[in-house]
Amino acid sequence: MHRLKEDVNKLRVPNSCDASGLKRTPDAEYAAGLPDELVLSGTVIAGEDMAVLDGCVVIENGIIKEVCEGRERGQFEGIICPAFVNAHTHVADSIAKDPPFMSLADLVGPGGFKHRILESASDDLLVESMRFSAEEMLNTGTCAFGDFREGGPHGVDLLLRALEGLGIQSRIFGRPLKDPGDIHPACWGVGLSSTRDYDWGFVDEVVRIARREGRCIAIHAGEAGRDDIEGALAIEPDILIHLSRAERSDLRDVAESGASVVVCPRSNLFTRAGLPDVAAMLSLEINVCVGTDNLMINSASIFREMELISKALVRDDRQVFMMCTINGARALGMDERLGSIDPGKEARVIVFDRRSRNLKGSLNPLASIVRRAEPSDIMLRI
Ligand SMILES: [Zn+2]
Repeated sequence: MHRLKEDVNKLRVPNSCDASGLKRTPDAEYAAGLPDELVLSGTVIAGEDMAVLDGCVVIENGIIKEVCEGRERGQFEGIICPAFVNAHTHVADSIAKDPPFMSLADLVGPGGFKHRILESASDDLLVESMRFSAEEMLNTGTCAFGDFREGGPHGVDLLLRALEGLGIQSRIFGRPLKDPGDIHPACWGVGLSSTRDYDWGFVDEVVRIARREGRCIAIHAGEAGRDDIEGALAIEPDILIHLSRAERSDLRDVAESGASVVVCPRSNLFTRAGLPDVAAMLSLEINVCVGTDNLMINSASIFREMELISKALVRDDRQVFMMCTINGARALGMDERLGSIDPGKEARVIVFDRRSRNLKGSLNPLASIVRRAEPSDIMLRI
C-alpha cells in the first residue's frame, strides 16, 4: 500500500533554507519519511551496464525490489539514475576556497599552501568545512565518497564527527604521520601521497602493516610526472589516483596490475598536470572512476567532472556515467550494495525532472544527464 500523497511530497528536494540561512540536508528526513513502498517511473538507467529503458523501479523499505519495463505510473516520474560515487576527495581542503593559481608543488607539496592552512585551522572549523562538503556532495547527487584524510588518527576522528547523522556513505583512507602502523580503526584503507614524498622504508612498512590488517592501498601517481608510477605499482596498490602523465606503456602495466584508477581532470587542469588518457585506460579495460580531488580548488559536484570528461576526453556517455557510478562503487568495495539500479541494492537513486527548463527537449536522457544536467534538475534523491 502506498502512503498518502502528502507523505510522498515530503521526499521532494527542498529549496528552502533553515534558520541559519544554510541549505538543509534532508537525508535523515528521507530515511525517516521514506514510504514502505515507493514506485518511480519513466526512463530508467538500469543495471551495471546502464541500459536505458522505459519502465519503473519499485523500492521497498529502502531496497530496490524490482526494475520493470512498461508504463506503470509511479509516485515520481522522470529520469531515474543511480546516485554518484565520488571516488577521491580531500574534504578538509574545503576549509579555504579558490587560492590563486599556483603550481602543484606550491599548492599541495610538503609545506605547501594547503598544509600551512590545514595546520593553522581549529578542529571545529575543520569539522564544519568537512560537514559542509559532505552536505554539498549529497545536494549534488553523490551518495558515497572515498576520502584521503590527513592528520593521522585525530584527523579521522574529526571526519567521523563531521559525518555524524548524514546519509552519505564513506570510505576513509588514513595517512600515518610518523608511526607507519598508526591508522585509525575506522579507515578502510591507507591513502598515500606520491612515493617521491616518502622514505622508501616507511612506505614499505605502511603497506606491510596495512595488508596484514586487510586494508585497501591507494596512492597518488603520475600527476607531477610519470617517474613515480613504477614505484607506485611496486607496492601493488588497489587504487591509483590521477595518472594524468601516464604514457601508454605505463597504462599497460596498470592494466596488468588490476588496480582501479581514479581520474580527477578538473584538478589536473588547475595544477597543469596534464589530462589523463581516459580513452586508452578504458580500452585497456581498467576500472576507471572519477574524483573531484582537492575541494580547495574544485566544487564537490560530479556534474562538472562528467561534462568535462564527456566533452574533452571520452565521447561515450554510457562509459562516462559508469565511471561516476558503478566503477567508483567497485573501486571502493561498495558495488554489492550501491552504484547501479539493480534488485537487492540500496535505493540510492536520483530522479531528474525531464520537464525542467534545462532538460526539456532531450533527445537522449543519458547524454543529457552526462553532458548538461545540473543539481537544479533533480526532482528527488534518496
Ligand atoms: Zn588527491
